[in-house]
Amino acid sequence: SPRIGILALQGDVREHVDALTHAGAEAVPVRRRSELDAVDGIVIPGGESTTMSHLLTVFDLFDPLRERLADGLPAYGSCAGMIMLAGTILDTRPDARHLDALDITVRRNAFGRQVQSFETDLEVTGITDRPDAGGPMRAVFIRAPWVESVAPDVEVLATVPDGPAAGRIVAVRQGDVVATSFHPEVTGDRRVHEYFVEMVRR
Ligand code: GLN
Repeated sequence: SPRIGILALQGDVREHVDALTHAGAEAVPVRRRSELDAVDGIVIPGGESTTMSHLLTVFDLFDPLRERLADGLPAYGSCAGMIMLAGTILDTRPDARHLDALDITVRRNAFGRQVQSFETDLEVTGITDRPDAGGPMRAVFIRAPWVESVAPDVEVLATVPDGPAAGRIVAVRQGDVVATSFHPEVTGDRRVHEYFVEMVRR
């Protein structure tokens, strides 16, 4: 089974370890360079992106991780993880660094003016449109970012179906990098993790 690392400096690491294990991966926390070197894919969890950015620098992982991503390491980021993978971030701290692995612009805490946290059912391309997919995906948003814009070769996988944020992009893929504004690791729905594990396996 593919060996998938979970960046384990901050955030909801344990939930991703459980979800990846259920999805058939060997899930290993990554806190140091040697651990990063040994994985076939990486998950960047939800948490707080400016703290994660700071800790990546403190743990000497920022440049090694950015280099592995530039070399094509498959990656999945949820919420703060999406922010970390993005090329451009709006409403962040001036000293926050990000990994520039996805050609998207994200806005931090974007839903905040309406609601801090909410849930909705989503259709996700490549996941809920498969035969026998089992219906839409319950998506949990917690002080989430949204994707403000994407480069032409970024595939939009999901948008908010209704409400004040209707049409906002909340899941994307570019090559072997996937990101969601929401947290599939907290709902027990393993389909996003299965999708990522399959991607790493290929
Ligand atoms: N608001 C957080 C940030 O800016 C992300 C929240 C989350 O990961 N649930 O990093």
